[in-house]
Order: sequence, then C-alpha cells, then structure tokens
Amino acid sequence: MGKQTLTAVLGAPRRLEIVERDRPTAGPGEVVVQVAATAVCHTDLEIYTGRHPGVRYPVVMGHEATGTVDSAGPGVSGIEPGQRVIINPIIACGRCDSCVRGAENLCRNAGLFGREIEGSLSQYVRLAARYVYPLPANLPLATATLIETLATVRHAQQRVGLGSGESVVVLGQGTTGLLHTRLAVLAGADSVIAVSRSGWKLDMARRMGARYAVNATAQDAVDEVLALTGSRGVGVVIDTTGGATALKAGIDMLRPGGRFCAFAVSHEHASGFSTFPLYYKEVSIVGARALTPGDMAPSIELVASGAVDVTGFITATYPLDRAAAAFEEYERNPGRILRIVIDSQNS
Ligand SMILES: [Zn+2]
Ligand SMILES: [Zn+2]
Repeated sequence: MGKQTLTAVLGAPRRLEIVERDRPTAGPGEVVVQVAATAVCHTDLEIYTGRHPGVRYPVVMGHEATGTVDSAGPGVSGIEPGQRVIINPIIACGRCDSCVRGAENLCRNAGLFGREIEGSLSQYVRLAARYVYPLPANLPLATATLIETLATVRHAQQRVGLGSGESVVVLGQGTTGLLHTRLAVLAGADSVIAVSRSGWKLDMARRMGARYAVNATAQDAVDEVLALTGSRGVGVVIDTTGGATALKAGIDMLRPGGRFCAFAVSHEHASGFSTFPLYYKEVSIVGARALTPGDMAPSIELVASGAVDVTGFITATYPLDRAAAAFEEYERNPGRILRIVIDSQNS
C-alpha cells in the first residue's frame, strides 16, 4: 500500500468530508508540499456556503498556505526537500495574452489553487515548483500564511499607485484593511485614516500606524474624513468592504483627481450611483485582482523583517479534521474573526 494523505473535500456547499487518498508524487518540474497551515478567508467562506459564482463541486479549498517541501520531481532546481515555503495560489497557463503581458493574475485559462485547482486543505499537495517560495527560518508557518494576503494588498496598492505624501482612507479594518493601513503607512502616506464599525479593529489599525481611526457606527465617515482634511478630501480611498454604499461614500471622500481602489468585491448592485462625480472630480476607479509573482518576495520580506507585524491576526486555529467547524465559526462570527488557520499536521 502506498502512502496516504487526508484531504478535506467539499462535495457540495456545506458538505465537507475528510477523505483518505493516495499521497501525490511529484512529476517533472513539480514539488510535493507537506502542508502546515492554511488561512481561511472570505473567498473560502463563499465557496463553502455556495455563494461564490462559477464554482464546480467537488472542491478542495485552501489558497493561503504554507508548508515544507516533501519531495521535488525531475528538473526542479532551487527548491529542496525540507525547505519551508509559501504557495502562490495564482495558477496561470503562461501562454495567453494576459500571461504574456506579465499579468498572470488575469490568466484566461487557469485559476485559483483552492478553487479551480485542488487546494491546500490536505496533508500533502502537488504543484509546479514555480509556485512555491522559500520562507526564512525565523517565520512561524501559521503566521506566514498572511503573506499571501499581504501580496494581494501590495498588488492593489501598486495598481492604485500609492506613493509618499498622500492622504489615504482605508474602509474596513478586517485582515485586508489592516494590511492596507500598514502598507500605506510604509509607503509614506502622509495621513492614513482607518474606518471601521468595530472598536477593537480600530485599536489594531492604530497599532498598524493609522493616524486617525474613525468609528463608522458612531460618526458619519464621510463627514469625519472631510473634517479631518479641511474639507479637501483624500487622494486615495481603498475599500475593503465591497458594499455599494462604500463606493458612493468613498467617492464623496475623495479630493478632485482622487483614486478609488475597489479591493473588495460584493454581490450587491450599486443602485443610486451616478457617474457625475467621476466627471466633476475626475475620479479614477481602480480594480485589483489577486497578486502577481512579483508581489511574493517583497511581501515575504515585509513580514519576515517585522515591518508588517501580523501578531493578533490569527484569531482561531482548527485541525484539518475539524475544518467544517472552522467554517461554521467563521459564518457565525464574521465580525469577530480576522484569520482562522487550519492546521494540516494536527488531525
Ligand atoms: Zn484568500
Ligand atoms: Zn494565461
């Protein structure tokens, strides 16, 4: 009998089963990674509950993952068994027009490891070696799962061209909002205004370096941002909440010539939205999807150096065989959770 692996298979929405399978073996150019930790994000929750459009079940979820290289196939160089790695989950074809332009995140043919391609909610996974990036020894593997999220945040800030001296509003202070706040501070933003409905998240935003923390439950966020900027508005608004009201509020917070980064996505339709402000204020709306390979190494460095301190971001840990309970907790308490980590080696 060959070696086995446990894998969490989502046969249909909310039907997560732990199954025993043959352990994968690395083919040419591939590695097998013994998964250590997978962080669960909103995308996974949408897949779990059946709300994510276009998903074909069964699915093996998990795209924010770290582990240790178990074996490497023929032709793999630079990655060796025993090496601790993080996975870039944007699996691209390398041939389409998007890939040729270097925009692998927009590949027309491939998809996300953990959605279109089987992901990391397993003890062992196989993937092309070019999707794994070595991690420094000092970084705990559970903590390092946040690097994937940080890479998506970095990609968005590159897209919006956030530079030093800018005034920035970050709407929402969940995991991505907090990372946006921190990265904007590190980019040299002049004043970063963090907006959230949650007091404890605003406390974390201050720890990330936000100059102002606006509690949107107690205050009108647009009025407050305008008051803080002498009625001028800010240069950049980054929305991590995804709601249609955030789009309108965000544009109202911008100075003329400002940029709105639509980082989060939502099923909500933006009714009552007029394009007049885009004209009058010459506002740019910038989309951002996932990450590019070039975001990985800088993001590893940002976390490894401590410049981005993600202490406190992991709010719960579950073993692989209790992954379904992790999703249930996430669904019950979305406002209380930053990242839930699934531990693949403790089941
Ligand atoms: Zn994610
Ligand atoms: Zn492609």
